[in-house]
Amino acid sequence: MTLASKLPHIGTTIFTVMSRMAAEEGAINLSQGFPGFGADPVLLDLVAKYTREGFNQYAPMAGIPQLRERLAEKTQLTQGYFADPETEVTIVSGATEAIFAAVTAIVRQGDEVIVLEPAYDSYEPAITLNGGVPVYVPLSAGDFSVDWEKVKVAISPKTRAILVNSPHNPSGFVWAQKDLDQLAALIRDRDIYVVSDEVYEHITFDGLTHLSLGSQPELREKTFVCGSFGKTFHVTGWKIGYCIAPEKLTAEFRKVHQYLTFSTVTPIQYALAKYLEMPDRYLSIPDFYQKKRDLFAAGLAQTELLFRPSSGSFFQLASYGHLSQIGDRELAERMTRTLKVACIPISVFYSDKRDDKIIRFCFAKEASELQEGLNRLKDLSKIL
Ligand code: PMP
Ligand code: GLN
Repeated sequence: MTLASKLPHIGTTIFTVMSRMAAEEGAINLSQGFPGFGADPVLLDLVAKYTREGFNQYAPMAGIPQLRERLAEKTQLTQGYFADPETEVTIVSGATEAIFAAVTAIVRQGDEVIVLEPAYDSYEPAITLNGGVPVYVPLSAGDFSVDWEKVKVAISPKTRAILVNSPHNPSGFVWAQKDLDQLAALIRDRDIYVVSDEVYEHITFDGLTHLSLGSQPELREKTFVCGSFGKTFHVTGWKIGYCIAPEKLTAEFRKVHQYLTFSTVTPIQYALAKYLEMPDRYLSIPDFYQKKRDLFAAGLAQTELLFRPSSGSFFQLASYGHLSQIGDRELAERMTRTLKVACIPISVFYSDKRDDKIIRFCFAKEASELQEGLNRLKDLSKIL
């Protein structure tokens, strides 16, 4: 028997490829996005406590009520809108699941889904596995802002949804209120849903704040807001996230979630519910990451790479086209093997793999590790 692949163009994700290469080469791994430091011991103790106290069986399908309630309070506090914990909030096994379940709930055979690229790599398979057709709209060259005229042109009678991401991976671009309002105007009176990937909601810089699409009243009615506790609390390996959507959308979302994973890791839900009772823990995250962004930007300025300081997420882009025309994948490999610093080539985030000679660094690392990586990057010219 030969199995005809349902995802013929998809290989192993670049995050796995580069992290593996970094490990083999003993390189500093600034490629895959994950924190290089531990979580708050208070949170870790809470997980230990709930596992020992026996909270180890299946959680309710939608998530434990306490966590949904605390998350609704956090949303009210940080985004100023009310989400009903009972009917509009679902706890899932990571934002990846939230995005997949939201897309599955709404996309039918032949439906078009607008994707702004460069785009995170889980979006396309979620769309195509559901019979949908991704319609790609490039973000603006340079700052990666959204060109709303281009989005307008991409909308057709077949458009079922638009998938958006702010703060943006890989560029760090953060949407302003006018972006939310433009999107709302573009899809007004149309049957177009929005899947909003907001995993970096607590990581913004220079006084910018994240505006959830749920905070815009018109968008609130048609959006699945997808978030990740893993990103927010430095525990990406826990794979726990959430989806907030209006009741009718949540009902469909839960039908998918129910058979994708059914429910999500129980003791961690209890621990997070308790931990969210301390808002200062998440309100202090922007300051924590601002220091890392500043340190990394200051060091990068001492290298030959060109960049605009990231506005959000824990990623920094840098371009090298003025130094060399080698491909970005080749550069990432040489950097990992020779300079011993791993990064991610940006071409992988484009449907046509276009190569603008840009690489991505993750700066969610200890200062000493960032410093050492930056020192090594000073020798960039030796590998070009
Ligand atoms: N979206 C984006 C933009 C991401 O960077 C990530 C993180 N890896 C995810 C979704 C997935 O989040 P999670 O690990 O909670 O599934
Ligand atoms: N989101 C992370 C990144 O962009 C990686 C997550 C993963 O490896 N799937 O690097």
